[in-house]
Amino acid sequence: MRLFVGGIRTETNTFVSRKTSLTDFQAGDVTRASEPSVDAGLHPGYAGILQAADAAGWDVSRGIVAYAVPGGPVEQAVYDALRSELLEDLRRALPVDMVLLDLHGAMVAEEAFDCEGNILDAVRQIVGSEVVVGALLDPHAVLTRKMLAGADILHAYKEYPHTDVMERAVELFSLCAEVLETGQRPVAAVAECGLIGGFPTVDQPMASFVSWMKEAERRRAIYSVSLIQSFPWCDHAEAGVKLLVYADDPMEGCAVAEEGGERFRALFEAAGLRALAPDEAARIVRDNPDQRYILADVSDNPGGGASGDATHVLRALVEKGVNGIGVGIFFDPGSLETAWQLGEGAESFFALGGKQSAFSGAPIVILGRVSALADDDGSDARGAVGGPSSGPLALIETAFGAVVVSRERRQALSPSFFTAVGADPRGFRCILLKSSAHFRAAFADFEHTILEVGSPTAMNTNLAEMPFARIRRPLWPFDPLPPLKIWACESVSGAKGALSRIANGGAQIKN
Ligand SMILES: [Zn+2]
Repeated sequence: MRLFVGGIRTETNTFVSRKTSLTDFQAGDVTRASEPSVDAGLHPGYAGILQAADAAGWDVSRGIVAYAVPGGPVEQAVYDALRSELLEDLRRALPVDMVLLDLHGAMVAEEAFDCEGNILDAVRQIVGSEVVVGALLDPHAVLTRKMLAGADILHAYKEYPHTDVMERAVELFSLCAEVLETGQRPVAAVAECGLIGGFPTVDQPMASFVSWMKEAERRRAIYSVSLIQSFPWCDHAEAGVKLLVYADDPMEGCAVAEEGGERFRALFEAAGLRALAPDEAARIVRDNPDQRYILADVSDNPGGGASGDATHVLRALVEKGVNGIGVGIFFDPGSLETAWQLGEGAESFFALGGKQSAFSGAPIVILGRVSALADDDGSDARGAVGGPSSGPLALIETAFGAVVVSRERRQALSPSFFTAVGADPRGFRCILLKSSAHFRAAFADFEHTILEVGSPTAMNTNLAEMPFARIRRPLWPFDPLPPLKIWACESVSGAKGALSRIANGGAQIKN
């Protein structure tokens, strides 16, 4: 049996004006078909597919795999070039029995709102209806009808933080191999939950929802169950949380989608990120001097496209007189360069952060001492969710604590950002992290109490304050929670074409 595998991944924050360029993809990683191997730490999904195919004794043809740290819409020429290269790699690999793609699902280019739908559609046109096409998705994908039409199975990671990418990739391979073997094409059933938000799975009630999904997947005739959370800052006509179920039979699929959709709607309010205002969080930290805290700066998470240099939360802490703060990490190439020029031990005034976007707030100007420099955060220590190198770092000590500044825009995925520059992260009374939820995997054993803090940036957690123009209403939290919508559809390879349509309490299937 012969498999083609390829992938293009990034997550687009449509509120960020700076476009995602080829340089951004190169700084993430671009591994071409001609290169001898793929870095599993940077591309765990792709690597998981390769591993599964290898174990099953398949003949594999590798295509390009590319990743950029989330940001603004991808420059059209860059998207066109990456997509063309992927499709060209596929044409060269023909004939194949199966195509598996490692995608994110929320990539938007300047003139293409549904990049993954376009990629899957083009792949299907090249390979025809007999070949099985599957794709691995990030749960922050915006699930579109075009994506569903192009693929036989879309299978998403279940965990957020995304600690299960490789596991899900291996499952995708097995599911698609089963489809190929039996010749039975599964039908997709979708429950549109009528809401948008962010739902980490480490704590209850989401941990038990993940268990429910796994239990539902063991039921007869059910292939795959994924909660597609959608990426809240991707202003898209098809945005919104959807439960996606693949089943042999559309009625059975719809029944599981309805059961899971209602189950999720019953718990989502207790499961969502609840961000405090910067002042509120700073007051809690100041008023509880014996407690240690991690403040997740959820609105300035580079992993969601934010600039990573917003000063709102740090300013609130400094103004409240909080000491012993460790900031990881400020994307501040200017301060990084100054620190490297001055060298370790030097003192200077620094203007920290507040430069990369209109949402960043003003820089914090303060006397600082360059206490350590490092080339990198250490490639083996980026936390369970992986990610590209931090590039050079500097630790700047100030009257309020210490700030790690970086040349690259990176999410604070692991304590290695601190340890690389000789700081002990557990020693800080208040750790301020540029991350929403992924940090939880690597900071799980810290004694610090976690507080999520929001601010008015391109990832404002108060979604009602964001200038959405394309999302379809009604949608919570903009409107009261609308009724659950259930529908089913087949991929184009299912020959009957789109089935579909609605029904609250029973799917009506048109052949
Ligand atoms: Zn994600």
